[in-house]
Amino acid sequence: GALQLTGGWIEVIAGVMFSGKSEELMRRVRRSTIAKKRVQVFKSHLDNRYEGGVYAVGSHDGRTLEAIPVDSSQQIALRIDPLAQVIAVDEVQFLDQGIVKLACDLALRGRRVILAGTDTDFRGEPFGPMAALMCVAEVVDKLHAICVLCGAPASRNQRLIGGKPAPYDSPVVMVGAAESYEARCRACHAVGK
Ligand code: ADP
Ligand code: ZN
Repeated sequence: GALQLTGGWIEVIAGVMFSGKSEELMRRVRRSTIAKKRVQVFKSHLDNRYEGGVYAVGSHDGRTLEAIPVDSSQQIALRIDPLAQVIAVDEVQFLDQGIVKLACDLALRGRRVILAGTDTDFRGEPFGPMAALMCVAEVVDKLHAICVLCGAPASRNQRLIGGKPAPYDSPVVMVGAAESYEARCRACHAVGK
């Protein structure tokens, strides 16, 4: 039968792109594995290339971990291994608000839930379910990158289109567009009109 677990909780690893969220998620998952916990890793994705397969959580330093691709909280719910003690999800900002209740339900059922995601969009505003997740979590770590302009701790995702700050009214999620991102501090972050 299913393991009887007590003391579940939610951990959120938040921060700007390049701040080391995936590295930190992988570090926690590896340590859970060493502790002989049963771990499941999910990663949200914005296209269907990996449908049905297994792909990797990669960090910008090149290390990888196998992850189940999902594009909704319901897909996570359907694929939960009832024996898993630790549930980790990367790129959680792309998921729907249903992830908030699912994370709470899993924690109530004794699971350790580890969620990594970028907390602000290119405008510097809360990204998807991140604000709500940071509220319901027992533990929140906010990581920083290095501002590519001034070297200060970076807390903002700078979106550039054609080298210029993206306009405020461009969509929050752009797939396959000619955009690029930089980690920047509050002072160096810019949003176009
Ligand atoms: P995240 O998941 O938050 O996007 P990753 O764990 O994938 O971050 O990558 C973090 C790594 O990105 C750092 O260890 C570093 O090697 C690299 N990196 C690239 N650009 C920057 C930057 N501007 N500031 C800090 N780290 C950076
Ligand atoms: Zn700066």
